[in-house]
Amino acid sequence: MRIALLASAFAESFVPTKTLRRLRLCYASSFPMAASEESLRLALAEKQVAVDAQAEAVRALKTRPGAAKPEIDAAVESLKALKVEAGAAARQLQAAVSRNGNASAGGGREAFRQAVVNTLERRLFYIPSFKIYRGVAGLYDYGPPGCAVKSNVLTFWRQHFVLEENMLEVDCPCVTPEVVLKASGHVDKFTDLMVKDEKTGTCYRADHLLKDYCKEKLEKDLTLSAEKAAELKHVLAMLDDFSAEELGAKLKDYGITAPDTKNTLSDPYPFNLMFQTSIGPSGLLPGYMRPETAQGIFVNFKDLYYYNGNKLPFAAAQIGQAFRNEISPRQGLLRVREFTLAEIEHFVDPEDKSHPKFIDVANLEFLMFPRKEQMTGESAIPIILGEAVSKGIVNNETLGYFIGRVYLFLTRLGINKERLRFRQHLPNEMAHYAADCWDAEIECSYGWIECVGIADRSAYDLRAHSEKSGVPLVAHEKFSEPREIEKLVIVPSKKELGLSFKGNQKMVVEALEAMNEKEALEMKASLESKGEVEFYVCTLGKAVVITKKMVTISIEKKKEHQRVFTPSVIEPSFGIGRIIYCLFEHSFYTRPSKSEDEQLNVFRFPPLVAPIKCTVFPLIKTAKFDDVAKIIAKSLTAAGISHIIDITGTSIGKRYARTDEIGVPFAVTVDSTDSVTIRERDSKEQIRVSIDEVASVVKEVADGQSTWSDIMGRYPAHTAAQSNEE
Ligand code: AMP
Repeated sequence: MRIALLASAFAESFVPTKTLRRLRLCYASSFPMAASEESLRLALAEKQVAVDAQAEAVRALKTRPGAAKPEIDAAVESLKALKVEAGAAARQLQAAVSRNGNASAGGGREAFRQAVVNTLERRLFYIPSFKIYRGVAGLYDYGPPGCAVKSNVLTFWRQHFVLEENMLEVDCPCVTPEVVLKASGHVDKFTDLMVKDEKTGTCYRADHLLKDYCKEKLEKDLTLSAEKAAELKHVLAMLDDFSAEELGAKLKDYGITAPDTKNTLSDPYPFNLMFQTSIGPSGLLPGYMRPETAQGIFVNFKDLYYYNGNKLPFAAAQIGQAFRNEISPRQGLLRVREFTLAEIEHFVDPEDKSHPKFIDVANLEFLMFPRKEQMTGESAIPIILGEAVSKGIVNNETLGYFIGRVYLFLTRLGINKERLRFRQHLPNEMAHYAADCWDAEIECSYGWIECVGIADRSAYDLRAHSEKSGVPLVAHEKFSEPREIEKLVIVPSKKELGLSFKGNQKMVVEALEAMNEKEALEMKASLESKGEVEFYVCTLGKAVVITKKMVTISIEKKKEHQRVFTPSVIEPSFGIGRIIYCLFEHSFYTRPSKSEDEQLNVFRFPPLVAPIKCTVFPLIKTAKFDDVAKIIAKSLTAAGISHIIDITGTSIGKRYARTDEIGVPFAVTVDSTDSVTIRERDSKEQIRVSIDEVASVVKEVADGQSTWSDIMGRYPAHTAAQSNEE
């Protein structure tokens, strides 16, 4: 009999989901190869064979003595026709590759990204940190509009999650002692595989190099055979699974060298992504900058549970900085070395993962990408959340509830729902203890990007800290009447095991103690019938033989007054920078200026996230209009509306264009001393409102109490002919 050790081996076999949940482009989703792409590759290969054969025939004809000219001309004509067909097949394949593949296919997306990034950097949404010293890769500052957007996103996050669910918010230090991250598994396993340029020492992420190679081949090499294409797609799907040796072998197989120098690369080796430090001057207390905020919540579980009246379920939340020393950060704000995480740890009884508010989100329908569709090469499909849970596609109601809430959060921020999908982790991506994991992925010019991870991590984290700290992080369910309980008792004989396994005794003991009831009862039956049993110990990486003398397994009856258990945790983890970057891309568009000689940039931010809600412009430079503008600005301040007042003499059209470019949704133009116009950014529609109503109207529409069309119905329109657009 072979019994896989699970629970007690987590320290060793733990692969933090963090190392797995890296930025993934969507190739896993297109393996096996989408049928149409495969048939197009085959068709192209056939056409190419036909072209080659016909070219050969033409050559033979031309060199054949006495070949008739009409015969040669006919052969050349059919060669031309075959070439045209091959060209068409190549174009069809290229289109299919672009459709199935990712963002980097197609220069349009690159150009779009460039336009967005140029605007963001020019208008100081963000700035490469320490720029005057030539910057540091993977570190960015938010400038004034970027800070305002971030603050609005976080305010809404607090309102949508913390307030809505009465979550317990905490704020823990970034500097974390080693013992905490040792218990969580990060010290040993929070690694990426790295290779070095053997001559220059430049470091690269090994899986990224392999991924880039496969992607480029798939997108650009149309002569690739269908088998080779399937192999490369398989490699992309398996990237997360490769050991250092396997990755190294693939890099060698494909002849991959350092991208900048073409020098040979070292073998891959693990690099821990945490920034190490020491706490205090003695250097005796090692620590790390936290790679996630979650551990701060787990270590406080006991106090938070008490604060919550010793009741489950409850959730704790934390917003804060996380630090990961990424090997070669690319892709701007998407992969950085310091970023803001907003994390929720929802603690729940593992025997009851229902959610009383699931009904509120059960009717939502959105794009989901379950495991099955990924494995069969299909696409994400719209699914009603309630059905996803009732059919068991999503593991439980609480996980489903958070998926629904995350969907509402992201779409209310302005994420395009057509470019948002929830992708379930494939079995090879999930840590063994996780019950189910889904990523909210947003499509941007870099492809589908994981922005929020929503995982049912079962009891792993609390158990790990209980074991390491010796403080039981458990919950209690008091019974109204004492209950007779059957309890599995496993008593390994340390003496016997020590005699047989010497130094490995501890690992065998732990493995025996970690057996679940089914495994233990199977072992008991085998020991009774055969006297011995083969037992696989993960931490040893091999099976050992257990005899009857080595362990006693029994079921005992006991009266108990309460159930003591380790809660499961459901963790939605939001990468705020990634969400914001995707929001920037989804909100950006250009439109021609009035004279049509220029393209003007606009961010279509909803008022909720717009960095500034309103501008105030006197139409022309006169003291009386300036005074009115100042009065309006004062009333906006009193109403708590962020605004800017621009009394420069620049044309009003230019002033509109300047603020459209940072996404200000409403502009108040002072063109008289008793009423003004309010212009909406995207429609460019204007209404006329009396001065004393301006602040309340802007507040109503900026706070989302009314829509712009509601307001349009209530106030006289200011016609296009009267407007002053650029
Ligand atoms: P993880 O703990 O790896 O699942 O990460 C949680 C979230 O943090 C992810 O869903 C991402 O949105 C974000 N994230 C992870 N790594 C980075 C990074 N290097 N830069 C920016 N955001 C990140």
